[in-house]
Amino acid sequence: IQEIHVVGAGLAGSEVAWQLVKKGHKVVIHEMKRIKKSPVHTSNLFAELVCSNSLKSMDLKNAEGLLKEEMRLFGSLILDCAMENRVPAGKALAVDREKFAKCVTEKLLKTGLVEVVDEEVKEPGSEGIWVIATGPTTDGELAEWIKKVTGGVLNFFDAVAPIISAESINMDVCYVADRYGVGSGDYINCPMNKEQYEAFWEAIVNAEVVEMDDFDRKLLFERCQPIEEIARSGKDAMRYGPLRPVGLRDPKTGKEPYAVVQLRKENVEGTMYNLVGFQTRLKWGEQLRIIRMIPGLENAEILRYGVMHRNSYIESPKVLDKFLRLKSDPRIFFAGQITGVEGYVESAMTGLYVGLNIARLVEGKEMVEFPRKTMCGALIDYITSAHELKPMYANFGLIGGGKNREKVAQKALEEMKQFIESTGEKHIEGGI
Ligand code: FAD
Repeated sequence: IQEIHVVGAGLAGSEVAWQLVKKGHKVVIHEMKRIKKSPVHTSNLFAELVCSNSLKSMDLKNAEGLLKEEMRLFGSLILDCAMENRVPAGKALAVDREKFAKCVTEKLLKTGLVEVVDEEVKEPGSEGIWVIATGPTTDGELAEWIKKVTGGVLNFFDAVAPIISAESINMDVCYVADRYGVGSGDYINCPMNKEQYEAFWEAIVNAEVVEMDDFDRKLLFERCQPIEEIARSGKDAMRYGPLRPVGLRDPKTGKEPYAVVQLRKENVEGTMYNLVGFQTRLKWGEQLRIIRMIPGLENAEILRYGVMHRNSYIESPKVLDKFLRLKSDPRIFFAGQITGVEGYVESAMTGLYVGLNIARLVEGKEMVEFPRKTMCGALIDYITSAHELKPMYANFGLIGGGKNREKVAQKALEEMKQFIESTGEKHIEGGI
């Protein structure tokens, strides 16, 4: 029997371990907190929430709500403990973070199947199955090892432009065109006249931004400029940069507009589009307000807001298979934010998926993929197949399927229940 090792007992690592122990498998957890803490962790408990105490919406019409409901079908430790330690927050699942982390830690230790090794892992051992779940602050020798085995692909920051849903773009105003007609209709263009551009510029330079520490500032600005910084460097800077209209003739007027905001397909299905060159530190409310000033995006639905912050993640589509194993060494799995998902619950979900599949592997069963039309399945599919991976949280753009969110959610839940039935994965009430 192969030993199973989990590196990092955060949101993902704890869930990996739970999916294994609840089926009677032993797990060795390697956690460094007692001897060394990352810059964002402060307690010695497992599953520490490093920032907000909210696990976001519980509403099924919200993508985060659907994600949770699907996970609960499998008996998720993170969600069970969150429910047990809930604090009032409307439709959101907010928790008492101390009690929540205690609950996760105690439930795992109580099983007697978990051995905890207090150490900073520098690289996995040469035997057994290993899960790397060291999160967005992974660094030091382990980061060097990851770079080595992934051919150098470990990103240390996010610089993501906002992503909007295709169905919220007003095509009466916008038009499809590639610069100088070179391409196959890959871009949607939002044309601006002088007045619109100037109002837009004015709004951007005066909008509120999220503060960042010196480390992030240095890291980010060396590599890519946020749109608000480009705007601040001069009134015409955006027009000569990402909003350049040259070669983008509007078929309605036959002319090049004064400025153009370009939208590029985010996924193969074309249900999501990103705003080209719009990586930003603007506060989320400001992003919505300003994006809706763009002609044709008056009703834009933002699926993923732009962010720029420190975040270590690997290029999963290149280096991992569908089960989140290293293509070059299938003994080694990755889980959590390091795989390219974003968020507490999303991280836990990848842990659930990996734990469930390792259990199957050691039980001699075939590993399984979540159905593509579920929120869990769509996220796993995105991080393992995206053309250009951008850390992603749950959103309906990943599944598509129309505007009736409740119907899409009900269908997804039905699919997940059938999947559970057909794979023999039963929810074990209350764990062990
Ligand atoms: P983590 O929860 O970070 O767990 C990683 C664990 O691995 C830690 O316990 C760490 O001590 C351990 N570890 C690391 N390296 C080693 C090693 N070499 N050897 C042994 N152990 C190791 N998401 C939200 O949904 N809401 C938020 O408000 C939010 N705020 C965030 C704020 C910050 C500053 C950051 C960095 C991220 C935030 N996130 C937030 C994103 C993300 O959801 C969390 O980072 C989440 O904790 C990721 O889960 P994880 O399991 O991948 O990693």
